[in-house]
Amino acid sequence: MRYSQAFIPTLKETPAEAEVVSHRLMLRAGYIRKLTAGVYSYLPLGLAALRKVEQIVREEMNRAGAQELLMPMVQPADLWRETGRYEKYGPELLRFRDRHDRESCLGPTHEEVITDLVRGEVRSYRQLPLNLYQIQSKFRDEIRPRFGLMRGREFIMKDAYSFDKDDEGASIAYQKMYAAYQRIFTRCGLQFRAVEADSGSIGGNFSHEFMVLAKTGEDTLAVCQDCDYAANVEKAAINARAAEQDDPLLPLEKVETPGKRKVEAVCDFLGISADKLVKTLIYMVTGVSESEGDVSSQGYAVAVLVRGDREVQEVKLKNLLGATAVELADDKLVFELTGVPTGYLGPIGLSMKVLADFEIAALRNFVVGAGEKNYHLQNVNMDRDFAVDALADLRQIAEGDPCPRCGGRLGQIEGIEVGHIFKLGTVYSSAMQAVFQDHEGNERPLIMGCYGIGVSRIVAAAIEQNHDENGIIFPAAIAPVQVIILNLGLKDAAITTVAESLFVQLQEQGLTVLLDDRDERPGAKFKDADLLGIPLRVTVGARLSKDGVVEIRHRRDGQTVELPPDQVGSYLSAQIAAAINLPA
Ligand SMILES: [Zn+2]
Repeated sequence: MRYSQAFIPTLKETPAEAEVVSHRLMLRAGYIRKLTAGVYSYLPLGLAALRKVEQIVREEMNRAGAQELLMPMVQPADLWRETGRYEKYGPELLRFRDRHDRESCLGPTHEEVITDLVRGEVRSYRQLPLNLYQIQSKFRDEIRPRFGLMRGREFIMKDAYSFDKDDEGASIAYQKMYAAYQRIFTRCGLQFRAVEADSGSIGGNFSHEFMVLAKTGEDTLAVCQDCDYAANVEKAAINARAAEQDDPLLPLEKVETPGKRKVEAVCDFLGISADKLVKTLIYMVTGVSESEGDVSSQGYAVAVLVRGDREVQEVKLKNLLGATAVELADDKLVFELTGVPTGYLGPIGLSMKVLADFEIAALRNFVVGAGEKNYHLQNVNMDRDFAVDALADLRQIAEGDPCPRCGGRLGQIEGIEVGHIFKLGTVYSSAMQAVFQDHEGNERPLIMGCYGIGVSRIVAAAIEQNHDENGIIFPAAIAPVQVIILNLGLKDAAITTVAESLFVQLQEQGLTVLLDDRDERPGAKFKDADLLGIPLRVTVGARLSKDGVVEIRHRRDGQTVELPPDQVGSYLSAQIAAAINLPA
């Protein structure tokens, strides 16, 4: 590719709309342009990086025995009704009607379509196992698309679906995908971690997320410092604890706390620490309540008790209730429901379901709101003074919490989710009657797994993890171009001859090359080469006429070497080979 003819519209200014590094740099480097909220065009270099990632994903999926197909993006609503997801999925599912008034949606995921396909073709256990995947655009109507390719509405995903005859086969399929994902992210040159995850709206019973570690991560991970336990904080388990205090139970006491509504203010006023106070929070719960077996479209309220120094982990609450959504009630709603102003709420006398975090059972003589303006209660004790409907793991993990596996200390790191694997079981196959005959002739539901990778997100995550103040630093395996040659003497015949012949020769060696033959100042060419993030830069300029050498510079560490032109080819090939991680 010749830069003078290439469509690489770099920007000098940082675009105001970009909030994160990858978004900013991809716009500045001319890799993407926004069409509308959360929807982007991939320009030639952006597409080249994307294709590199796709190819790695494809090779590893094929290697693991999965087969590629391509399903439609437009999906009929009736299929989604079979699993109940047309109603349950929420506003992220873009629904519309065609000219015949048939309800349809744009696929945010393809469980229904693949299950429909497979149920029509697979009859016998002899046709199993099966793992099918595609690399395709998905659409999710995010309420607030942001961060460029990190959280767009339209994005490119690899989604694979496995079908097995028994749990053992499904576990093997899961393990194969787990291993394939390790290879994919290693080959992409990323630092990542596989973590236990919440399975979200896809359902099922077991899952792992693959997280690229980066400061701008959208997710927080709890990571054990002593064993290999790692989990999304949405899921990170906190075990029940026995009562750690043997203090005698003191008599309940009502105290006046005028105007003290916030945890901090109450604690200051009463001279206690926040771990001696219990917050009562009211949540509105909507969606299917599995425990009660009904659909509560109106929603119902529950009270959640956590220690004053803790936060409720809403995903844990949502999962416990089997709900589609939980939302903290605002002051007005709390007053309507309880007659108590926010800040003075307590569990005693509350006429709704009360859930308490495990820690509450371990507390003695704590403080709660009195259920009356300007009053709190002291020396409150669970069971003696109030009952709860359930004790559960409901709080967000905190720095220094014990590891649920080994008891070691948990720390937290930020990550960007780029892959997610689920054991689905028979959730979809049962709902959609996708069955096969086992070897005894019995009809049984297929056992499924699903496995996603955010292909476009990997490009953004790679940039979040690999950049400096001058631009992108692409891992060699997914760089859109491996080598950029700068011709710094367009009017100098000797320099131009060497630059042009290296351009031809390196491509013949199988390297991807961009020749900067623009009529620009050297400073501008150096700046753009850094911004684009191309791993190796070859500068053909004054040193050629003076010393007969060209300069090669590594984008990642700035290291330079000078070589005569005839040694450049073998040096670059060796450097690229060394920079690409090929797992054993
Ligand atoms: Zn541990």
